[in-house]
Amino acid sequence: MLISQHFSIPHISTGDMLRAAVKSGTALGQRVQRTMEAGELISDDIVLEMIAERLREPDAATRGFVFDGFPRTVVQAERLDEILAPVTIDLVVSLDIPTAVVVERIAQRRTCSGCGRVFSLAVPPKVDWTCDVCGGEVVQREDDTEEAVTRRLALYDAQTAPLIARYQAAGRLVSVAATGTIEEVAERVISCIGDRLGAAGEIGW
Ligand code: AMP
Repeated sequence: MLISQHFSIPHISTGDMLRAAVKSGTALGQRVQRTMEAGELISDDIVLEMIAERLREPDAATRGFVFDGFPRTVVQAERLDEILAPVTIDLVVSLDIPTAVVVERIAQRRTCSGCGRVFSLAVPPKVDWTCDVCGGEVVQREDDTEEAVTRRLALYDAQTAPLIARYQAAGRLVSVAATGTIEEVAERVISCIGDRLGAAGEIGW
């Protein structure tokens, strides 16, 4: 969110899009709800259709965009290349963090059910678990239970981690230390993007 604000580009989070579908009870939402709550991955076809549709919106065709939580499998990465061709992804940021810190962070995490803004037990909203930004209710995500988190981390190792080598081989990967506050990590990512793409004078296309 801080990154998309900094560069004035859309933040395309497949997790946020899926949670919005669940919340509004659409056919897609009903289809994916149980899978998400269990910490399993949604099928590549569903996610890719959602992404292709999102990329057809006008705001995605101007200065680029930042994906969050996508691609998560090799199939998603391959099909993304096809969807974007002849344009390619500029940069992939791998957030490096010890597993124990992730587990602790997720246990503490509280998320706005309206806009997706992230808070925590240590840094709560100013007023009574009401989002500082949109006034939505700030809650613990259904998939932030210990069982679902364990499953999500296992799926990350099996399905998502192989993407690191893929983007590294393509010379598109940067690794950023993800310890510290949300603002500190965002600042590191913004500076990496600036170093990498700023020289060209602009981000995106
Ligand atoms: P996130 O908000 O990125 O942690 O995603 C929350 C949940 O949404 C995941 O555990 C999956 O169930 C689903 N999800 C989000 N993005 C993807 C994706 N790219 N591929 C498959 N499932 C996804």
